[in-house]
Amino acid sequence: TLAVQDIKKSFGPTEVLKDIDMEIGTGDFLVLVGPSGCGKSTLLNIIAGLENQTSGQVVIAGRDVSNLQPKERDIAMVFQSYALYPSMTVERNIGFSLEMAGVAKATRTERIKEVAELLKITDLLNRRPSQLSGGQRQRVAMGRALVREPQVFLFDEPLSNLDAKLRVDMRVEIKKLHQRLGATIVYVTHDQIEAMTMATKIAVMKGGIIQQFGAPKDIYDRPSNTFVATFMGSPA
Ligand code: ATP
Ligand code: MG
Repeated sequence: TLAVQDIKKSFGPTEVLKDIDMEIGTGDFLVLVGPSGCGKSTLLNIIAGLENQTSGQVVIAGRDVSNLQPKERDIAMVFQSYALYPSMTVERNIGFSLEMAGVAKATRTERIKEVAELLKITDLLNRRPSQLSGGQRQRVAMGRALVREPQVFLFDEPLSNLDAKLRVDMRVEIKKLHQRLGATIVYVTHDQIEAMTMATKIAVMKGGIIQQFGAPKDIYDRPSNTFVATFMGSPA
């Protein structure tokens, strides 16, 4: 399970997260949606440990990780702007975190190979990022996250830089990957279709508050207020 308990976050005088409280199970695919500036990335960064909460806890598999460093949290994050190391090959980009963690070369090679097969980028391992398409780069960025075999994956609008066709393809791939790995995922998007098709749970946010949390169908069929109804495109 991944639990976010009473999380508040202020930047100076501005409170951007107001008492966020939610819990998902292992294997859940939680999609966070909401308008720009509502606090989605801030919440994700707090879960990852890249940003400190003002108060509250993050609990993963029963362990309070609130005070742990990002790399101690067993979480991997994929960002919208997936900066790859330009001078390194795809293979080294994917394996770099393992290299830093002191994982032996043979083990690294094996793990990279598995991940590359899963993401269908085996043919690209010797290329540099500049020699890849946008979608291929996105796969490499995912490979970097996958190779660490974390319990929890966080995605912050990972497909927003891709064209419409590729976005649909990647959606399918991520969904398949999720089913295969049984991983717990928190996925931020602006895209309501992405939310409805990928999620097992949806949290609709506005103004630093979760307006509604539930299964996609419940949110669509029984929006708890007019904001949720309008935002999710439910019939009036
Ligand atoms: P978007 O959909 O545009 O990515 P978001 O929901 O991810 O938006 P956040 O990035 O979490 O929104 O930002 C929430 C609010 O916090 C915004 O009003 C933003 O301006 C503010 N904010 C974010 N980071 C900082 C910071 N480091 N210092 C001050 N304010 C910040
Ligand atoms: Mg954001």
